Amino acid sequence: MQFRDLKTQYQALKADIDKAMIEVATNCNFINGQQVKDLEKELAEYVGVKHCVTCANGTDALSLAMMAWGIGEGDAVFVPDFTFFSSGEIVAHAGATPVFVDVDKDTFNIDTASLEAEIEKVIAEGKLTPKVIVAVDLFGLPADFAAVRAVADKYGLKVLEDGAQGFGGQIGDKMACSFGDISTTSFFPAKPLGCYGDGGAVFTDDDEIAALLESIRVHGKGKEKYDNVRIGLNSRLDTIQAAILSIKLKAFAEYEMEDINKAADKYTEKLQGLVKTPVVPEGYTSSWAQYTIQLADKETRDGLQAALKAQGIPSMIYYPKPMHTQEAFAGQQFDEAVFTNTNELVNTVLALPMHPYLTDEDTDTVVAAIKAYLA
Ligand SMILES: *Cc1c(COP(=O)(O)O)cnc(C)c1O
Repeated sequence: MQFRDLKTQYQALKADIDKAMIEVATNCNFINGQQVKDLEKELAEYVGVKHCVTCANGTDALSLAMMAWGIGEGDAVFVPDFTFFSSGEIVAHAGATPVFVDVDKDTFNIDTASLEAEIEKVIAEGKLTPKVIVAVDLFGLPADFAAVRAVADKYGLKVLEDGAQGFGGQIGDKMACSFGDISTTSFFPAKPLGCYGDGGAVFTDDDEIAALLESIRVHGKGKEKYDNVRIGLNSRLDTIQAAILSIKLKAFAEYEMEDINKAADKYTEKLQGLVKTPVVPEGYTSSWAQYTIQLADKETRDGLQAALKAQGIPSMIYYPKPMHTQEAFAGQQFDEAVFTNTNELVNTVLALPMHPYLTDEDTDTVVAAIKAYLA
């Protein structure tokens, strides 16, 4: 069994993907091909925002946002403690200070009570200036953006939606990657919408920010190619990746999101009462980057993972370490009392095989193995 079955997906789309890749090779328009512009239009339309600026990966997408806003030394950026390293890394990389915040135990997303408490602490200390809230759509579920926006407005902060795992999710009929002042995603192969290498995108409704992002993406270019008006990056999306993504976006919108939600519903129905299943609040839709269950304690979780492995069932621990305990942030002081939920989740979460091509037979096999272990 595959944890995320990219091979079956390729077989389903092979004729179109092969043709698209060969077309790029034939035309040799490897950089800035028409396919990149076409994809940006398609992505902006799908997400329902005015601008999409593609880039080299999801980490750069976040960095592009930091650069466009001029975030740097002396600035505080609030980041959930339970997330992939990039969400905090890009803050430190910009020279600013990541202030970690606890998450909700049901949704795995930023806890706005903890967020507000941390903002108040930073203000009271008076050393850093609060600037940005990074809200991550963890495991495919959009963060509580109504609550995040209320806090942002109260303190005059910007919202950066890290939708690396969230692409395709929804709150009501609004799509993920449309909730931030700037939103980002990643096309890393195993993400909800993945390419065949690295890729990413930034989304915004703001014309000025979009123009800035386009400049920063290509060495801070001005009006002409060898006119550089600011310090930027080299962070383009390859034409070949854009061509692949256009095809995969169609399948994603037409049936993959529906199919992965059916697989998630199957798991949730069959695992009811056995383990704590992921919570999708009323009105929310997840794109199921991960299907993450919670076990009673670390011993049970680790034991279950070993039992699944013995039966050839892959599972993953996202994430085994809270951000505030990463050695890279050892220079900062943290109060353990802030991170109650994250400190527990790192010991109890387990992500099960999840993808749009998961069969009923697969979910049955996984559920039977979990049942047998817990009995
Ligand atoms: C994967 C991921 C990123 C980074 O994306 P890359 O394309 O790998 O650089 C950032 N944030 C989160 C939450 C992610 O899961």
